[in-house]
Amino acid sequence: MLKNRLHILDKIPMTLPFGEIRRQLHLKKDTRWDEVKHLIEATLPDIQAKAVYRVCYIDEKQGHNIAIEGQRLTSQVLAKNLASVERVFPFVVTIGSHYLEQMDAQKDLVVKYYLDVIGNIALSAARKFLEQSLQAGYGLEGMSFMSPGSLTDWPLEEQRPLFALFGDGETPIGVSLSSSCLMIPAKSVSGIYFPTEVPFMSCQLCDRKDCPSRKAAYDAKIEAEYGIT
Ligand code: SF4
Repeated sequence: MLKNRLHILDKIPMTLPFGEIRRQLHLKKDTRWDEVKHLIEATLPDIQAKAVYRVCYIDEKQGHNIAIEGQRLTSQVLAKNLASVERVFPFVVTIGSHYLEQMDAQKDLVVKYYLDVIGNIALSAARKFLEQSLQAGYGLEGMSFMSPGSLTDWPLEEQRPLFALFGDGETPIGVSLSSSCLMIPAKSVSGIYFPTEVPFMSCQLCDRKDCPSRKAAYDAKIEAEYGIT
């Protein structure tokens, strides 16, 4: 039964990195930082971070196509990253819908923006918790992940075969896909973790300017190595 093969982290502990929040909000200590600190403390109970993941083995690799338990994923970059990998960890992580409801109800647009950034950082922290759990649980030293839609090489429509690995409809942590392949609730992230000795980040292949979520510098040389220039 598929249900027995789903691993759920139901209550991910949440510690928000104050320094990172201040950096992303471009706040100096003498500006609205005290207000934001109170906001962070007040908003913490609204974050209900959860994750679901699976341990899957690759059935087939053919060119840019990867078959995992009957689901075909197509990406030149993913195929290269999985060239010497047999076991992968498809996942979905969310901070839940309650946080978004609180954020949407906020009338002050500046506070709403703060909550948006804090929510993104909370989601990133929850994903990192999953990553550390996978590393500890499966004895893996290095891991990286890719998400559908993060690069044009692996478009958002690839969410469909990825989500199919978790069954039909809503995942057990309450995340579903809209008809346009967006995740509901929005503060969710999905993808595939894979073991690797050389850390990979999609940002290395993305030349988008001024992205506030950038985690690695764009590197045209690495992009050329992946053959997607
Ligand atoms: S730079 Fe921004 S848009 Fe590009 S992959 Fe990284 S997070 Fe995504």
